[in-house]
Amino acid sequence: MDLLNTLVDKGLRCEPPTREEALALLATTDDELLDVVAAAGKVRRRWFGRRVKLNYLVNLKSGLCPEDCSYCSQRLGSKADVLTYTWLKPDEAADAAHAGVAGGAKRVCLVASGRGPTDRDVERVAATIAAIKDKNEDVEICACLGFLSERQAERLREAGAHAYNHNLNTSEQTYADICTTHGFDDRVDTVRKAKHAGLSACSGLIAGMGESDADLVDVIFALRELDVDSVPVNFLIPFEGTPLSGQWHLTPQHCLRILALARFVCPDVEVRLSGGREIHLRSLQPLALHIVNSIFLGDYLTSEGQAGKTDLEMIADAGFEVEEAGATTLPEHRTDATAIPGAPHTRGSTGSTAEPTSRADLVAVRRRGAGTDLPPNA
Ligand code: SF4
Repeated sequence: MDLLNTLVDKGLRCEPPTREEALALLATTDDELLDVVAAAGKVRRRWFGRRVKLNYLVNLKSGLCPEDCSYCSQRLGSKADVLTYTWLKPDEAADAAHAGVAGGAKRVCLVASGRGPTDRDVERVAATIAAIKDKNEDVEICACLGFLSERQAERLREAGAHAYNHNLNTSEQTYADICTTHGFDDRVDTVRKAKHAGLSACSGLIAGMGESDADLVDVIFALRELDVDSVPVNFLIPFEGTPLSGQWHLTPQHCLRILALARFVCPDVEVRLSGGREIHLRSLQPLALHIVNSIFLGDYLTSEGQAGKTDLEMIADAGFEVEEAGATTLPEHRTDATAIPGAPHTRGSTGSTAEPTSRADLVAVRRRGAGTDLPPNA
């Protein structure tokens, strides 16, 4: 298929597809699906071999956010029955992080609900980073705390954070459809501030919110334009009690095409299969490992993922290997702000052909790990 040969050639040269090629990729048929996966797999193996980076989420502060992001179970007015708690103490967060690292995670993502941190909150997170590093010196730490000031970004970097996550989520054009309390430009601004402070920028998207294929192409090109180091690709978890409950637009096949799009547009960047993989890809999850080079281990912020042990078995069964602490994720030609000093370098519509079918039974609210008395899933 000429299109796939062109995409592979460009991906091996780190060149992006044209917008028309990107749209054509999303329009490929299910008959062509394995060819799409194989083509994206060539680019994945060129830049990341067979390594899979594991990331572990620690929800430092859950629920009761004043923002109204319609996809989020923690939003203003959410009726979703999720855990709500205020800041974990540094040692509680360090214990949760340690469970993830012991399970094989190389990066710990410290997330707090809210529009953005106060300076006091940033100091709490700085203390949390110190507590985590005390137990796990080599772990990469990514913070995700909402909008940042320049000084706060610098402070997080000084405190030992490697990365900062702030997702663009959807295209600039449709951003107002998913949130009214802030805009697309606000999100871009924080990604830029994080990069400027020397933090590795992590920013991604959520598919399945009713957007068009053109929106998906727009947001992925916007992420390439921002030159982020990692791109989490989430598939909407349509929580009961949020405006997007009941939105089941995605098919497993279209999820794979969306991941392939991210790989071809951002060939040498960490593409992370993120929230919603279990409920949308279902039994096709292992195929996604041929496209992405990174996943979350265990549970998400407010929902449960499959058992961490099952993630590890899936990686081994599919013929991939967990990326070790000390290995550098990104290819050498990319500036890698996440590198631990001294570490060696190793080297249309979304699924709209399917009738939306509610799979609400697949969404399990998180009831274990951070903020509970039960052990975490790692
Ligand atoms: S700002 Fe973050 S926590 Fe708050 S509603 Fe939006 S996504 Fe959810």
